[in-house]
Amino acid sequence: MFCKNCGAEISENAVICLKCGASTTEKPATAASQPPKSYLAWSILTTIFCCLPFGIVGIVNASRVESRFYAGDMEGAQRASDNARRWTWIAFAVGLGWMFIYMLIYIVWGVALFGSALGW
Ligand SMILES: [Zn+2]
Repeated sequence: MFCKNCGAEISENAVICLKCGASTTEKPATAASQPPKSYLAWSILTTIFCCLPFGIVGIVNASRVESRFYAGDMEGAQRASDNARRWTWIAFAVGLGWMFIYMLIYIVWGVALFGSALGW
């Protein structure tokens, strides 16, 4: 068979093209019949558990993905998808950072309480 990406001849059971590295099982990215990933579930989860403001930016972008896609704005849908992913990750990272800081505060606080209880 031939590579869908670069047209080079490759073996029948090859998973990727040895010339360009393109996957043989996936269709080329240009044939988009499905909207890009919206990351809506992830942005909602990070909003609830991590960081509200950044998570909301993620949700707003996630909700734009499908509406733009069905309006025929492929590029806008892809951009919204990229934004949704970026903000979901930012919210996730900030949430993790806060959790880490809280944990440190609790540990320091706990040690201090424990210490004073023992009369250190
Ligand atoms: Zn190829």
